[in-house]
Amino acid sequence: MASIFSRIMAGEIPCHPIAENDEFFAFLDINPVATGHVLVVPKQEIDYIFDIDDDALGRMMAFAKRVARAQKAAIPCKRIGLTVMGLEVPHAHIHLAPITQESDLCFSKNKLTPSQEELAVTAGKIRNEYK
Ligand code: AMP
Repeated sequence: MASIFSRIMAGEIPCHPIAENDEFFAFLDINPVATGHVLVVPKQEIDYIFDIDDDALGRMMAFAKRVARAQKAAIPCKRIGLTVMGLEVPHAHIHLAPITQESDLCFSKNKLTPSQEELAVTAGKIRNEYK
């Protein structure tokens, strides 16, 4: 069965897209740890990020870097933090979250629950900065 992220990329489940290329897709996390939290996923459905071959992993990180630059320009923060877990969704992904202090990147605290309208506004700001 297709992963929830494959279903999002197929357009079966709505999301707030940020950027994409032939290999990768970026969209807002629905329950962000911080406003502007983005997920970067490979279009190829692969569970564990460290099963991705070296060249593709490098390209995934380069794509994430462009997304992170857009987030940094759009969202007030000190820097963009990067986390990889994959404990919930078995489709490799990088979490990119705007942070100002260590606790902004805490996944065990209560996550934010922005409305669809708030997510749309945030996604628009980040998309506007994506180059
Ligand atoms: P993990 O697999 O532990 O790295 O976390 C999976 C992440 O996917 C969590 O931060 C969820 O909030 C996020 N997530 C799950 N379903 C969706 C969805 N439909 N749209 C956007 N983000 C999602």
